[in-house]
Amino acid sequence: MSRRVVIAIDGPAGAGKSTIAKAVARRLGYVYIDTGAMYRAVALWAIRAGLALDDTHKLEELSRHAEIEFAAGASTVLLNGEDVTEAIRERAVSEAASRVSAIPGVRRAMVDAQRRMAEGASVVMEGRDIGTVVFPEADVKVFLDAQPGTRAARRIAELEAKGQQPVSEDVSREIAERDRRDSTRSDSPLMQAPDAVFLDTTGLTIEEVEEEILKVVRARVSNGKEVLR
Ligand code: C5P
Repeated sequence: MSRRVVIAIDGPAGAGKSTIAKAVARRLGYVYIDTGAMYRAVALWAIRAGLALDDTHKLEELSRHAEIEFAAGASTVLLNGEDVTEAIRERAVSEAASRVSAIPGVRRAMVDAQRRMAEGASVVMEGRDIGTVVFPEADVKVFLDAQPGTRAARRIAELEAKGQQPVSEDVSREIAERDRRDSTRSDSPLMQAPDAVFLDTTGLTIEEVEEEILKVVRARVSNGKEVLR
């Protein structure tokens, strides 16, 4: 049997991580893990439970009890057995996720769960701290970014596809605020690992970004060969 491979994809909101990570995982036959969805699930539970988002003790406890699972190739997110795929994408949950994810105890619970999910499987894992904290030994690390206007436009298109009519300035402000919080927290801030490949996805198609990442995978993991299962 071949060894487990870990591909870590980090970057700010709207950089294209989910789309690209899913495409790369599908291409390689690896398991795709969306760690942002896990922080979102914890945030959703906290909101529903009426917890104050600065109650670190209760939030840590809640995160330890959260059973978060991915089904159907990670297109479905389950929280304690309930399908929360849509609910965790609400804008209030994005904001709350960025708050609860700054709590060290919550991060410890999520990182433990993320490492367990990757046991024995080759994975493409995306988030903010995968190459720096969760898997510092990842075989391939990619840091995706894009110009702020492009990132906001992507988020707006996503919301519009769901029938919402977001105000563009609001979305830009929310993304900027979330990135500021994610980059300045003291525990596991969003940053590029020194050994990560940096890719600016502005103006690139999904296929182009996917191909760039696969080139790195071929060079580092499979000695130039295409199939990597
Ligand atoms: O990636 P996504 O936008 O769904 O993540 C939601 C929030 O979860 C981020 O703004 C960030 O605060 C947090 N997050 C994190 N570490 C990760 C993934 C997400 O802190 N590995």
